[in-house]
Amino acid sequence: MALKTLDSLHIVMASSEAVPYAKTGGLADVVGALSMALAKSGYQVTVLLPGYRTELAQKARRIAMQFSVPVGERPMDVSIEEEYLTVTGALHHVRVLFVCHDPYFNRPGLYQQDHHDYPDNLDRFTLFCRAVIQAMHILVDVQREKIDILHLHDWQTALCAVYLKALAHEHNSLQSIKTLLTVHNLGYQGIFSGQEFMKTGLPSSLFSLSGLEFYGAVNCLKGGIIFSDAVSTVSPTYAREILTAEYGCGLEGVLASRRDGVTGVTNGIDEAVWDPAHDAYLQAKYHANDLSGKRTCKRALQQELGLPILDVPLLAVIGRLTFQKGFDLLLEILPELMALDLQLVVLGTGDTHLEQGFIAAKEKYARRIGLHLGFDEGLAHRIEAGSDMLIMPSRYEPCGLSQLYSLRYGTVPIVRRTGGLADTVVPFRPSTIKSKIATGFHFIDPSPDALLSAILLALHAYEEQEVWRSVVTAGMKADLSWDQSARVYADLYRQLRDGRRSESANVY
Ligand code: ADP
Repeated sequence: MALKTLDSLHIVMASSEAVPYAKTGGLADVVGALSMALAKSGYQVTVLLPGYRTELAQKARRIAMQFSVPVGERPMDVSIEEEYLTVTGALHHVRVLFVCHDPYFNRPGLYQQDHHDYPDNLDRFTLFCRAVIQAMHILVDVQREKIDILHLHDWQTALCAVYLKALAHEHNSLQSIKTLLTVHNLGYQGIFSGQEFMKTGLPSSLFSLSGLEFYGAVNCLKGGIIFSDAVSTVSPTYAREILTAEYGCGLEGVLASRRDGVTGVTNGIDEAVWDPAHDAYLQAKYHANDLSGKRTCKRALQQELGLPILDVPLLAVIGRLTFQKGFDLLLEILPELMALDLQLVVLGTGDTHLEQGFIAAKEKYARRIGLHLGFDEGLAHRIEAGSDMLIMPSRYEPCGLSQLYSLRYGTVPIVRRTGGLADTVVPFRPSTIKSKIATGFHFIDPSPDALLSAILLALHAYEEQEVWRSVVTAGMKADLSWDQSARVYADLYRQLRDGRRSESANVY
């Protein structure tokens, strides 16, 4: 009993996305699944999200708080709506608080529309961060709750750490709360024109090298890195990579200035959502000991995407069509690939030139390529289940979730050896084949040739039924659950709460 009291933690998560409410990418999966895993372990979890009025988030909720916060000089009315999310099969729940301000959050997109960022994104996330702090004041000062940790995710929430630390005199009662900032993708830093700095309401002394200033602009993530008590990212390899100029996106120096460094915690998968044995999106269910359902899923997928139902290798691509993901490398080798007996399915949305590249490829190889440009959760599940191989040629990849889902669904990943892809896919080599631990294929150079060689090696292995079966089952049986990662986060929270980690970065 004493141990339980000692271990009790109240974690407040602030995020711009979380499953099942709002999602554009892996961040949503991580925040949703981590919150659930922590609640399942008995920790108290409160998630704060913008109150988007999306399809997933339309139902009426109790209004728990009302107040106003400034954006620049203007006070903005905010209401906090409350809902409880029950953890599957457990008695625990996650409290979700939605920061509602319809002029900012009742829009068709989360951050952008028609490929253009909303011009007032700094206003929107300044309001969100200020509302998070104000809501914590009400929880602590009025409702007498104890909060141990504020876990922030990406640039959209990074300003919370700045407000807590830099305006400490305004937030006395919150000073025992420790902040952890998790960087899910350093390529997105929340950079805005220097003229917009006043919107944050922070003292002008913070628009400097040791604050949010970044080559004359405002950089929200930089502020978060400097003012958080700890910084983590989503895989050990990416944690090392971002300290280098090649992967640091200009923030490698700021990251290196943190005394405690950057901790890498690999993401898991939410097995309540991603498990081929129970996946409601699939026509047939299957597991590692009986893959007949996977063959049914393959035929169903070929039919769904208008491809001939043939027993040829089916390669897949799922993801944001951006330079980061390296799908341009795939477009370059399409003529060679299409000369082989295989099919390709593509699900994604993103940069216009990449979308057009895949449209042109589909026109040219209509009966070999299945294409869906758009966001479709169900189709993502059916592709993971129905394909034989998943291609992830990312130039950088903080963790990557699609390859984790592929492993679980018996779809062998072919990945560039970077970030979380290097940490989660065991490469096909003589030694790993012999010990039956190989789960996929790696290549190193971000070049079309290197990608093609890895695909050819995989196709060759596909022909060797027994070898292939061993790679498929090793992946399906790998422990990818959130339990392990949630334990590492809980340990990090306790270290922070107990003062076993040094405070924020050396002033840069
Ligand atoms: P990132 O977060 O960089 O976009 P991840 O691999 O970490 O990449 O996570 C991507 C997540 O988004 C996965 O859950 C994947 O299934 C999903 N996803 C990406 N693009 C699409 C799409 N077009 N339709 C449906 N789901 C998608």
